[in-house]
Amino acid sequence: MTFSAREVKNEELRLRYVELLQRPDVYPTRANWSYISESRMRGLCALLYGKYLAALTIDDNDREELHDVAVEEFPKYLAGVGIDEAVEAIYGDIETNTAAAKSLIRDCGLFDAHRLETLLEAGRTRFVLDLIDVYRREYDEDQLADMKSLASTLDNMPELGHIEERHGLWSRQRRFICPEGHNNTADNVFCNQCGLDIYGKTEADYSRIELLKKRIEALESLIDSRF
Ligand SMILES: [Zn+2]
Repeated sequence: MTFSAREVKNEELRLRYVELLQRPDVYPTRANWSYISESRMRGLCALLYGKYLAALTIDDNDREELHDVAVEEFPKYLAGVGIDEAVEAIYGDIETNTAAAKSLIRDCGLFDAHRLETLLEAGRTRFVLDLIDVYRREYDEDQLADMKSLASTLDNMPELGHIEERHGLWSRQRRFICPEGHNNTADNVFCNQCGLDIYGKTEADYSRIELLKKRIEALESLIDSRF
């Protein structure tokens, strides 16, 4: 294996970027962002995501232009970076700013059935259900298998709420206690306060899960028609 002088030079620069980006006070300039995107520099996504998340929280007093540049440029960069690197970076930190992570996954086509299934099993039900209808930038056979597995996990979720028997002095009542703890009559499938059913799904979630199943069918049909 040989490397050209140009490749070595680029790698030197990339390592320099890694070093600089690890410093909390350093933010890329607009020219840096363009260069990183245009030269398809790998291995920076998680660090740049960190800059984006930090920039979002800086208040007006300490805010500098480079913070706004980071907020503006990161989503553009993310939309162009390789999907594996992008998925690893964003799903690697959904805790710091869950709403931001959700938006990036949606806007940059970072649906990843395997990661979502792992999160579902870890109890991040709402995060996953809100992203079920997102498209992925590109699909393959592995993704199809992961999507099928996710769909099956979604159909077999454990009960998070429960049905309670209440024995009154003169009556016996069945109540549906939703996953948020709201108290409903037992004939309410969806909670009248938060809309969740016993599994923590809303009516809209069921529609989105159906969309996922249609997407699985479409992808299967595409894969079949190739042979
Ligand atoms: Zn409720």
